Amino acid sequence: MSKPLVLVINAGSSSLKYELLEPDSGDVTARGLVERIGEPVSVITHEQGGAETVEELHLPDHRAAIDKMLAIFAAQGTDLAESNLCAVGHRVVHGGRELYRPTLVDQHLIDEVQRVSPLAPLHNPPNLVGIEAARAALPDVPGVAVFDTGFFHDLPDAAALYAIDREVSEQYALRRYGFHGTSHDYVSHRAAEFLGRDYDTTNQIVAHLGNGASMSAIKQGRPVDTTMGLTPLEGLVMGTRSGDIDPGLLLHLHRVVGLSVDEIDELLNKRSGLKGLCGENDFRTVTEMIAAGDADAKTAYDIYIHRLRRYFGAYLVELGHTDIISFTAGVGENAAGVRADSLAGLEGLGIEIDAERNAVRSGEPRIISTDASAITVLVVPTNEELEIARQAKAVVVG
Ligand code: ADP
Repeated sequence: MSKPLVLVINAGSSSLKYELLEPDSGDVTARGLVERIGEPVSVITHEQGGAETVEELHLPDHRAAIDKMLAIFAAQGTDLAESNLCAVGHRVVHGGRELYRPTLVDQHLIDEVQRVSPLAPLHNPPNLVGIEAARAALPDVPGVAVFDTGFFHDLPDAAALYAIDREVSEQYALRRYGFHGTSHDYVSHRAAEFLGRDYDTTNQIVAHLGNGASMSAIKQGRPVDTTMGLTPLEGLVMGTRSGDIDPGLLLHLHRVVGLSVDEIDELLNKRSGLKGLCGENDFRTVTEMIAAGDADAKTAYDIYIHRLRRYFGAYLVELGHTDIISFTAGVGENAAGVRADSLAGLEGLGIEIDAERNAVRSGEPRIISTDASAITVLVVPTNEELEIARQAKAVVVG
């Protein structure tokens, strides 16, 4: 009997990412992306056996996208209903206070994810659509929801609570939940394993720098702080999101500038961050613009680095002693300059980056600090799909 497989699904509002993999070995059979679901022309890109197929067709909804995905698998000789598929693992962004462990999909789970949707109105509804569509298309395969907030469920109150009227925050479940948990979980465990350290006696900082960006502080194996809060808008400067701002700015934008709540939402989520500052959110383009002398791109970069350094400082002090700092995700794994600049001049704090090591490009975990550096600085490629697959398999198989 072949080893069990897990199909991991990450459903966005008009997209669906999927990966079929073996959680034990991490071997990926296939992966793909469906984009522009619901638009006149949708696109499905499927990679399997070293070949990529791209097809344009109309996919009215997520159910149609999943049916099409199954048809492509079948055309490639993989009948998912007949393969050794033990679970469908779903990325679900927000689990609220009740849901944080990987959980079997049933009506209660669906109702609960629905109930906390106001906390993640852009993410939870499409996640649910993905869950329902997979359930309908593969009724005999158990679904497992893995929550982006789960890893941070037990943040200490000092880090998790906002300093606002307690009655209001309790009534409306307003607290810092944290996101990208699957990535912080995977990377911190991988970092400890890579260095041969015991997870539960190691202090770590993880910087997940992708289009969205967040940092976490992990003390003796327990997450104690993270930069994202009630929503994924708090914290670091991101591709299109502002990260931290004075909450008074929101009031000003409404009262004085006259923007509606929806307009402020759109401004802070889609027209801020690097994009708001210099017109581009792709870090490669920002880097090229800086090289070409674009002053706005340089300012955007400086603000991005300044915010990162502020949080490195905060977390170094919160942890008191740190063993490992890891960089991950698109920017963290690829932009050597960001890694060097965000930790420059910190030799006095025990951080010394080795320029040659930092310049190495690889898909594997690697050390970028000098041998003399008291804190070991790593690049650890993230793998959220593998983490979701492992957690999903653990729920159904044990
Ligand atoms: P997400 O999953 O949040 O969409 P990713 O982790 O894929 O994001 O990261 C996307 C970001 O990584 C983009 O800003 C992209 O420009 C950046 N990135 C990818 N490759 C490179 C590279 N070689 N150098 C600098 N930035 C890169």
